[in-house]
Amino acid sequence: MKITYVTSECVPFIKTGGLADIVAALSIDLSDDHNISVVLPLYSQIKIKLQTKLDYIGNFYTLNEYIGIFKYFNNNITYYFIDNESLFNRNNIYGYSDDGYRFGVFSRAVLDLFEFIDEFPQIIHLNDWHTSMIPYILKSDYKIDYRYTNLRTLLTIHNLQYQGIFDINLRCQLHLDYSNDYIFNNQLNFLKCGIQCSDYINTVSFTYRNETLSPNFGCGLDQILRNREHYYWGILNGIDYTIYNPATDKNIIFSLNNESIIIDKKINKRELYSNFNINIDDKLPLYSMVSRITSQKGFDILNEILNSILYKDIVIFILGSGDSYYTDYLHRLHCEHDNFYFYNGYNEKLSHMLYAAGDFFLMPSAFEPSGLSQMIALRYGNIPIIHEVGGLKDSIIPYNEFNFTGNGITFSKFTANDLYNAINYSLYLYYNNTHHKQLVKNAIKTELSIEITVQNYLHLYELMLSY
Ligand code: ADP
Repeated sequence: MKITYVTSECVPFIKTGGLADIVAALSIDLSDDHNISVVLPLYSQIKIKLQTKLDYIGNFYTLNEYIGIFKYFNNNITYYFIDNESLFNRNNIYGYSDDGYRFGVFSRAVLDLFEFIDEFPQIIHLNDWHTSMIPYILKSDYKIDYRYTNLRTLLTIHNLQYQGIFDINLRCQLHLDYSNDYIFNNQLNFLKCGIQCSDYINTVSFTYRNETLSPNFGCGLDQILRNREHYYWGILNGIDYTIYNPATDKNIIFSLNNESIIIDKKINKRELYSNFNINIDDKLPLYSMVSRITSQKGFDILNEILNSILYKDIVIFILGSGDSYYTDYLHRLHCEHDNFYFYNGYNEKLSHMLYAAGDFFLMPSAFEPSGLSQMIALRYGNIPIIHEVGGLKDSIIPYNEFNFTGNGITFSKFTANDLYNAINYSLYLYYNNTHHKQLVKNAIKTELSIEITVQNYLHLYELMLSY
C-alpha cells in the first residue's frame, strides 16, 4: 500500500503530545512492507534539528504563498517538509491568531505536493484539525484530475476538544467556496469539515469512539459524528516497545528487570531523589505524573485533594506544563510540602526517570481519547490510578484482590472524593506484599504494543481500498 501521513507533529522531529508518538510508531512499523511517506510543516525547530540532512527539492506557490519542499529519507520512510518562513518559523508550533491560515495553506500545499513530486498515495491518513480541510479541498478543487479523485482519506481524531474553529471570513483567505461542509455555528470549523468529508474517520480507542457519539463527550460535534457512525472506527493506540523498554532504556539509571523490578525501581527512585535534592525515605510510595497540565487531565479534582493527601506518608512528583491556573497552585504546594515536587516544563529524560522510579502513576483524566502515558507506566511497573473513561478504560483493568487479576486502580465517578479513595486503596495494596507484587507482575505483562494497533489500521486501510 502507498500511504501518506499528514500531521502537525511526529517524533523524533517535533512533539507536544501523544499524536507525535503514534504517527511515528505507525509509520515506522508499516514501512517495512509498505510505501510510506509523512508530510509535516518545516518548523524552525525541525530545521535546526535536521540541518544539512534536509534535501531541498524545489518550490511552488499555493494561495500565493511560497512553498519550499524539503525531503529526508530515514527508516525506509520519505519525510516531506513544507517550508514557508513566515508561517512556520516561530517560537511555538501552535497558539497564533493565524493558525487557521497557517494550517489551511499547509493543507492545500500537501495536495499540490503530490503533483509536484508526481507521486500519489492510495490513502492519505490525516490527523486532527490541522489537516481536516484536506478532504473538502480535494473534493471541491481537485475533482477533475483522476489522480486526485482516486485518493482515499482517513481522518484520525486524537482529541475531539481541539477543533480548529476560526472566523468565517478565513474562508476567503483560503479561497474556499461557500459550503455547509465546514461551517458550524456560523464559524469555520476544520474538524467538523474533516468528519463530514473524509471517507473514513477513527478515533484512538473504542470507548472514546462511543463516548463521543453522546452529547456529554461530543464537544458539540456528536450529531455530526452520529451522521457518519458507520464510517467511524475506534482503534486503541499502542506504544513502541523498543523505545519504551525498561531493560534497555538509556534515559534511566538502572535497568528494570522483570524478576527484580520492585528492588530495581528503588534504585531509580534514589537516583531521582538525589538529582532533585529530595531527602525522603525511599520506602514511601512514589506517586508520579507526566502530563500536559490542563483540565482534561483531571487537575480540577486532583488539585482539590492534593494538599490533604500530602499529609500522608507518600511522595508525589509531577512533571508537566500547561495552564497557569493549575501550575501556580502546584508551585505553591511545592514550596509548602517536602514530599511534593513539581517540575514545570517538558523533559523527555525526566519523564522516563519518573516512569521507572514511580510506584503509582496518576492519570485521573476527565476524558481521555487513548492515553499513552498509562501504557508506558505499565511497562515500567508503575501502577496507573485512572478514571474509567476512553482509552484508560480500554487499557486498565481494576485490580481484583480475590482472583489476583487486573493491572491498575480505577474509579468510575469523576469526583475528588473517588480519586482520594482510589489513592487510599493504592496505599493499602502497596503495603500488602502479595498484592503489590501481583499487581506489578500483571502490569508489566499487559500487552499494549503498537503491533496490535498496526494490525487494526491495516484492516481499515484494506477496507478503504476494497471499494
Ligand atoms: P496527550 O497526547 O493527551 O498529551 P498521552 O498520554 O496520549 O497524552 O501522551 C502524552 C505523551 O507525552 C507521553 O509520551 C508522555 O510521556 C509525554 N509527555 C507529556 N508531558 C510531558 C512532559 N512534560 N515532559 C515529557 N514528556 C511528556
